[in-house]
Amino acid sequence: MSNLRATIKRGEHKGKYLYPHKHKDNMYVATTSRFEEDYIRVNNLDELEALVKSGYGARMSNKDIDNAPSYIVHRNIEIIPKKKGIKDSQDRLNSLTDEVDLDKDSVSKNRKEQAFLREYLLEGKEIGTCVICSNEFPFDMLVAAHIKKRSKCNNKERKDFKNIAALMCKAGCDDLYEKNYIFVKEGKVELNSKKTLTPKMNKIISEIIGNKVLNWNTSKKYYEWHKSNK
Ligand SMILES: [Zn+2]
Repeated sequence: MSNLRATIKRGEHKGKYLYPHKHKDNMYVATTSRFEEDYIRVNNLDELEALVKSGYGARMSNKDIDNAPSYIVHRNIEIIPKKKGIKDSQDRLNSLTDEVDLDKDSVSKNRKEQAFLREYLLEGKEIGTCVICSNEFPFDMLVAAHIKKRSKCNNKERKDFKNIAALMCKAGCDDLYEKNYIFVKEGKVELNSKKTLTPKMNKIISEIIGNKVLNWNTSKKYYEWHKSNK
C-alpha cells in the first residue's frame, strides 16, 4: 500500500483519494509538469517518495475512478509516515550509478541519476545553496554537478557522492563551471582568462569571482582536476 496520497478537491469525486499511478511498464512517474519530457520513471514507491520529498509531483490515479492519471503537484501530496525506514539514499544511488555506467547513452537513466543525486545533496529539503555563488535556490533551479567530469571519474570517485557532486545553480554557475569559464583555486572562484567574454558575461562572472566555495575542504582534489583540465 502506498503511503503517498492526494485528496480530490472538486467535482463528483470530491473527497476521494488519489494514489501513485502504476503505469503499463510497472513504473511510477515523478514529474514537475504534465509533459512527458519531465517524467522521471521510478521502479518503486520508496523512490517515488524520495523524489516527492525533494519537490517533485507525481502522476496519480484511483482505480475505482475511471479517470486518466493526473499530475499532482508535490504540495498537494500527503506523505503518511511509514514504520520502516526507506531504502538508504546512498544504496539507491550506488545501483543507479552502476545502471548509468552500463548504459551511458540512456537519457532517462542519466536524468534519473541526476534527480536522485540532487535529492541526496538536498537532504530532503526543497531549497538548497549553490556552492559557487552561495545563493539559495529552489530545487528545480539547482543541478547536481560533477566537480570532476563524470566520464573521467573511476567507479570509486563516481560513488563518492558527497564530494564528487555539488549543487550548482541554473542561474549561471553550473554552465560557467562546466564550460570552464571559471575554476576554483585554493577554495576561491577564479576567471579563466583563456575564454572569450562579452560585456554581459564579464558582469555576471565579476559577481562570483573571489567567492569562497562551500565544499573546498572535502572536494579539493576534484576541483584541482577541473582546474588542470580547463
Ligand atoms: Zn550559483
